[in-house]
Formats: sequence, structure tokens, C-alpha cells
Amino acid sequence: MGAPSNPGLLEKPSTPAGSTIQADVAVIGGGVIGHGIAWEAQRSGRSVVLIDDAPGSGASWAAAGMLAPVSELHYQEEGLLELMLDSSTRWPDFVAGLRAASGADPGYITTPTLAVGADAADRRALMDLRAVQQANGLTVEPLTVREARQREPLLSPAIACALDTPADHQVDPRLLVDCLRRALAGQGSCRVKGTRDEGANGRTGGGSTAVAGAVDGYSVPDKARGLLWQDGAVAGLRLAGGGTVLARETVVANGLHAAELESLPEGLHLPLRPVYGDILRLAVPRHLQPLVTSTVRGLVRGVPVYIVPRRDGTVVIGATQREDAPATAHAVSAGGVYQLLRDAQVLVPAVAELELLECTARARPGTPDNAPLLGRVPTTHGIAGQAGHVPGLIVATGFFRHGVHLTPAAAAICRDLLDGREDPRWAPFNPARFNATPAATTLFPTGRLSHQPPTKESV
Ligand SMILES: Cc1cc2nc3c(=O)[nH]c(=O)nc-3n(C[C@H](O)[C@H](O)[C@H](O)COP(=O)(O)OP(=O)(O)OC[C@H]3O[C@@H](n4cnc5c(N)ncnc54)[C@H](O)[C@@H]3O)c2cc1C
Repeated sequence: MGAPSNPGLLEKPSTPAGSTIQADVAVIGGGVIGHGIAWEAQRSGRSVVLIDDAPGSGASWAAAGMLAPVSELHYQEEGLLELMLDSSTRWPDFVAGLRAASGADPGYITTPTLAVGADAADRRALMDLRAVQQANGLTVEPLTVREARQREPLLSPAIACALDTPADHQVDPRLLVDCLRRALAGQGSCRVKGTRDEGANGRTGGGSTAVAGAVDGYSVPDKARGLLWQDGAVAGLRLAGGGTVLARETVVANGLHAAELESLPEGLHLPLRPVYGDILRLAVPRHLQPLVTSTVRGLVRGVPVYIVPRRDGTVVIGATQREDAPATAHAVSAGGVYQLLRDAQVLVPAVAELELLECTARARPGTPDNAPLLGRVPTTHGIAGQAGHVPGLIVATGFFRHGVHLTPAAAAICRDLLDGREDPRWAPFNPARFNATPAATTLFPTGRLSHQPPTKESV
């Protein structure tokens, strides 16, 4: 399979104004997260539509695809570790199912990651981090520079240290989205044979869950404008193009833009902020291939940089982290490009001989605690005054630096929620945790389909 082309707006016509599409599950947003959730819901036997006029074009287009629970353990973010490790365990089966359901390969590579320090201070910082990693039961083993260079001969002999991180792997996020779209369209060898009511065991792919009116049976190439409500439940969404999607369950998975949707539950505060990242793609001349076989994550004078190999012989060098407000949404920072190339060359001098193919910048969907907003939205103001959840609504956004890695976990958690199961381990990621009051949403008692979310006054 060739590399997916640069995603722009989908050329297919959007849903005609006034028309209605109906599905079991509507997923708003087609990044890795929305696609992962949509596929998991579909292979559990549900009919699914995914709404996005430019699928795969957000943060997922830029991502390096490191699946790195160990290297990504940051001080004071230990709360995320259990979710990161859970997702790690899911990757092999997720990829196997996806290969079968799509007939394509998402570029999943399980070579270990090498953490490399450029100087003595970087070495100390990496050893300090190793102490935290070990305290959390993670395996990170020091290598001599000689051992590291036996594995990766193009590593600089001047590096100060190297550490082996066997549990950290990688995938190609662009191929991943492409595979998920093929699977949702039922292009692989495994197809859904039955419906949800006939039992969901062992079924994957598109098939009879195809939704009338959706492109390829699942895709709605439009933007969601806002949620629709009926009888106190979210009943689907309105499309920017004027149509309507009716669904028993709606998943808000449009990354950074989730809070912009109209008619979100009253009081629900989704504090998403853009954290921009510049990232480079480079071709490796034949005589230098493979430049590296493992992901090399370095610290160079305290600044992180990584080199990720792809199956096609290219490499990805990333990524900056900046919270400025660029004049245009996808503007690449010249300083960022300079810094990445400079620091990558310190670790692997042959980087200077590569061919620069692409400079990309996208915004990561960040949250105040750097953890996702994932789950149902709690309410304390139910019709009977009892605590519960807003029916028909799941939120899955704010995946910040980890959305690719967390895709299988997010998909499985959402499938459980659709099945009526809630794992208490993931309660800390409650999407209402930043509300002014812990649960400020209310149930809506009228039977009319409404563009307005419920208010406390209406209860
Ligand atoms: C430079 C860089 C490197 C990264 N590297 C890694 C990495 O190595 N490993 C890792 O795990 N993560 C990495 N990430 C983070 C990862 O990319 C994100 O966490 C992940 O892509 C988030 O996925 P998402 O689906 O939530 O959002 P996005 O990919 O941003 O997708 C959101 C989608 O919603 C759509 N949308 C927006 N508004 C609407 C609307 N109203 N209606 C319908 N659709 C809408 C957009 O068109 C878009 O397709 C990196 C990010 C960056 C920027």
C-alpha cells in the first residue's frame, strides 16, 4: 500500500440539507481516536457513521506514531501510566484485527526504543528519569555506547549514554487512519455477517452494518455543528451542511475542536488548548539505509528530539512543543526546523545527508492535566434528582501527546461504555472533571427533538 496522500477536504458532496442519516453510533471527528472508536463500535456489530470533512488531517496527520508508555512517563503524570500500559497490551491484537479487516498494514514495528543522551547533563537527566521509570515497575536498561552502536552503527560515537527501552514501539499514524477507513468500509477479508442483535462474537469489518446515505457505508464528509437532544438524551447531531444524523449514541472525538460544538451539555467545560508541534519527514539515501532500526529518543542539551524509522525507508524527526499562536493554523516554525535538524545530527551525524521531504506542524489537543477527557458526562440533576450520565453521549478528546498510542484503549473503553460497562480505573479521565461544579449537566424532560441542551431551569 502506498503512503496516504495529503488530506484535504473530502471531495465527495456533503449530506444534502434537510436529509437525515440514521445509525446506532455517530462519531464526530476522524482523527486516529474517532476512527479507532468507530471501527471498534462497528466490529461489535453496530452501525456507525463517522462525521468529518477532512479526516486524518488534524494532529493525527503530524504524529510520529511512537507507542511509548515508558519513554513518555513524565514527572507528575503517573496517573496516566495505567492507561498507557493498558493500551500497550492491546496493540498486537488491535493491529492483527485491523490487518484482517482492512487488507492493509499500518506500519506497526516492535523494535525497542533507544534513549540517548548527548552530554553529561543529559545523561544525568535520563538516569533520573530511569529511577522514576523503575519505581513504576518499568524496564529501562543502560547500554554502553559500544553496545548501542552495535545495534545502531550510525549513532554518534560522542553520545554520553544509551538506554534500552524494549516496551516502546511504533506505528505509522497515516497508514493507521488509512487502514481504519478501509476496515470501516469493509474492504478486508473479514466482514460483518450479522447485526448486533444476532450477537457480536468474532465479527469484524463493514458488511451489513453499512449505513444508508453514508459514503462507503460509514463516512459523512461534513462538519458536525452541534448536538441534538430528545427526552433528555443526546439523539444525534446537526451537520454544518444542514442535514441531520440520528444516533442512539454520539461520540465527541473531534480533538481540539470539541468544545466548539453547539448544544453541549450545560456546564460541561472542555478546556482544550493547542500545543503546536513541528515535525520533519526525510528520505534516507540507499547507501545509508537503514539510518536507524529502532526509534532513537534523545536529549540534546536538555532538549528532546527523536528519530523514528518507517518501513518505507524514510525517517521522521520530531518534534517541537510550542504554545504560541501562529498566524496560520499549520505554519511551521523555522526555528523549530533548525533545532530539530541540529539536535538530530548530534545523535546521528548522517542526518545531514538525508533529503528533506516534508515539514509539518499541527496542534496537539492538550488539557490542563495532560490527560484525556474520556467517558460519559455525569449529571447530578436527573429527572428523579439522582446522579447519572447524560444518555447518548460519550466524550473522547484531549489526547495531547499520546493519541496514537491510546487509540486501542480509547476504542475499547468506548465499546465498553456502549455495552453499558464502566471500568472504575478510568474514572479519573471523566470529561467533566474541569467543570465549575463537579457535575453541572441536567437531564431534559421534553420529548421534542431540540437543538438546545437541557438547562437546570428546565428540570
Ligand atoms: C508533531 C506531533 C507529534 C506527535 N507524535 C505522537 C506520537 O509519537 N505518539 C502519539 O501517541 N501521539 C503523538 N502525537 C499526538 C497525537 O497526534 C494526538 O494525540 C492525536 O492525533 C489526537 O487524535 P484525535 O483523533 O483526537 O485528533 P485529531 O487527529 O486532531 O483529529 C480531529 C479530527 O476532528 C475533525 N473535526 C474538527 N472539528 C470537527 C467537526 N465540527 N465535525 C467533524 N469533524 C471535526 C478534524 O477534521 C480532524 O480530522 C503527536 C502530535 C503532534 C502534533
